[in-house]
Amino acid sequence: MRLLRTLAEVDSLTNLKRRRQSVEDLNRLLKLADRQDTTLCFAILDLDQFKQVNDSHGHEVGDQVLKTLGDYLRQTFRGEDVLTRWGGEEFVVGLYGISKELAVKRLTALLETFSQHSFLGGEQHLFHVSFSGGVVEYPQDGMDIQSLYRQADELLYMAKAAGRNQILSS
Ligand code: GH3
Ligand code: MG
Ligand code: MG
Repeated sequence: MRLLRTLAEVDSLTNLKRRRQSVEDLNRLLKLADRQDTTLCFAILDLDQFKQVNDSHGHEVGDQVLKTLGDYLRQTFRGEDVLTRWGGEEFVVGLYGISKELAVKRLTALLETFSQHSFLGGEQHLFHVSFSGGVVEYPQDGMDIQSLYRQADELLYMAKAAGRNQILSS
């Protein structure tokens, strides 16, 4: 039963929680932040030009990129943070008890490290991948996951429009 539960909750490619499980975790942290009078930062990260990675190097290599970002996220953040593969090449990160200024700093540092990682494509060709992100903070930017997601997604859209490879907050 425990194995089946884990399989249902965790994405096997990235070893990150799946969306449904994370929504429960995020709701729990929202309540806790309320009780402890602290913040929860909510970030959406989306890989840049990822379709191009698949088109140039194949889906297996694309999968390797997703797995690697999962590894970096787990190395970078703490156990109480929520790390999710929200779907496709989109990730959601919930960071407990820090300001969005600090969250942007941490995510930008992760972006710098990740975008320097060399991936091996076809014909021994090395390439790099970046991501873009939007960060908002509970309670100041939204009171529930739906509104936090909407605001973070708008910032993500702006980060893409501004040239990608950057993290924006409101
Ligand atoms: P943008 O910078 O605007 O986000 O461009 P993009 O190419 O990343 O965005 P787009 O939405 O056009 O393409 C997303 C791609 O992600 C297309 C899809 O095939 C790929 N993708 C989604 N899930 C997976 C997966 O599990 N494995 C692989 N290899 N690719 C995936
Ligand atoms: Mg993308
Ligand atoms: Mg996307």
